Amino acid sequence: MVDSHCHLDSTQAKSGLDPEDAVRLAAQVGVTRIVQIGCDPEGCRWAVQAAERWPSVIAGVAIHPNDAARMGPDLVPALELVEGLAQHPRVRAVGETGLDYFRTPDAAGRAVQRDAFAAHIAIAHTFDKTLVVHDRDAHEDILDVLDAEGWPARVVMHCFSGDDHFARACLNRGAHLSFAGTVTFQANGRLRAALALAPLDRVLVETDAPYLTPMPLRGKPNASYLIPHTARFLAATLGIELERMCQALNDNADAAFGGSW
Ligand SMILES: [Zn+2]
Ligand SMILES: [Zn+2]
Repeated sequence: MVDSHCHLDSTQAKSGLDPEDAVRLAAQVGVTRIVQIGCDPEGCRWAVQAAERWPSVIAGVAIHPNDAARMGPDLVPALELVEGLAQHPRVRAVGETGLDYFRTPDAAGRAVQRDAFAAHIAIAHTFDKTLVVHDRDAHEDILDVLDAEGWPARVVMHCFSGDDHFARACLNRGAHLSFAGTVTFQANGRLRAALALAPLDRVLVETDAPYLTPMPLRGKPNASYLIPHTARFLAATLGIELERMCQALNDNADAAFGGSW
């Protein structure tokens, strides 16, 4: 299956797991494809290099909303870099972009995030790339900005964190919902309610490694080779065979990211 969202470069910084080993260990457990996400100028360049190096890896490029909020005048050239890299054939996604009202509580920072989000949406439209959305405590404004700018043909709600109501709103607009290890946490019944109402062909799975490690390894650094824990949990929650779940996750990643790789 596919890890639809991870940060191989941050994984190395956090746990010391070399990206080469991370890709190899993932393939050994059947996670044969990875979407590598860049969050700042350096990370975006790294993601493109990773996608050039490993056939199993494609890249997403963007300025993360929390980075956008604190970059000041550097944001303008950073967005120009994203626009340039987004034209690379191994870059399938613009993201992660969006709104993070948890880490950026001030009104000025949030206004910068909304403008940067709109700029990323425009880049996704221009080059027909998948939009990967980061949403933390900002569900309504995420919908507002996307409704105003227009939803790109393919949108992934990464680390989906909403309830059934928000899930329905995203699904009605054609988005895929990507579930991370958080769906396995006991307190997150609302995520499982959202999962339960999503059509099987709109569900993705991701690690967001090195963060959000699934149960029973919560608290340890995450990596793509641990995603089977989440995939098994999704299959069990939906009451379907693991094989069928994996086939769906594989097919859905192709649809969400503009074809196989
Ligand atoms: Zn995120
Ligand atoms: Zn991420």
